[in-house]
Amino acid sequence: MAERISPRTGRAFELKRGRTLTVIDPHGEQVSDMLAFCAADHREHLSSGRSIDYAGRIFLTTGDALYSNRSRVMLRIVEDTVGRHDFLLTPCSAEMFRIIYGHEQPHRGCQGNFEEALAPFGIGSDAIPVAFNIFMNVQIDADSGRIAVMPPRSRAGDRVTFAAEMDLVVALTACSAPQSNNGSFKPIDFEIGAAP
Ligand SMILES: [Zn+2]
Repeated sequence: MAERISPRTGRAFELKRGRTLTVIDPHGEQVSDMLAFCAADHREHLSSGRSIDYAGRIFLTTGDALYSNRSRVMLRIVEDTVGRHDFLLTPCSAEMFRIIYGHEQPHRGCQGNFEEALAPFGIGSDAIPVAFNIFMNVQIDADSGRIAVMPPRSRAGDRVTFAAEMDLVVALTACSAPQSNNGSFKPIDFEIGAAP
């Protein structure tokens, strides 16, 4: 049974080694930011830099591993029906909405949703790294490095499945940034399963 994350909210939960996590976009064009922390020591967390370095690519998909800051595999992508996700940009936040969008009463964004969801696990705001931004479609100009956030390529029912290679605390959001989600905020579904 899939669980639903309401638009512009987040959730955190334990994911045991050997289990799978499937993240589903039920309506299409909706990003879900994902964080992972080692359950035994929260100072070990998802590392964008190490994962990109070891893959030799900035776009990760089926077969690729998501590494920790201690260079251990946390999660492996075992299924991916979209093939375009971002692992460069930080979670959207109130500050980001002020700086990029000029919002005067900004939403707390994925950052604020992560902080609330992770507080019961004793994980604070400064411990939140770059998230794996599922379904986020960032186009990059190879020469200038200029980035453009485009609508997600995901359609209703598209999914990504990760296999956990250590006991984890995982956090997921239904992203709150207008640009990342083609201007509207939708829910995200997720399902925890047995090992493949
Ligand atoms: Zn977001």
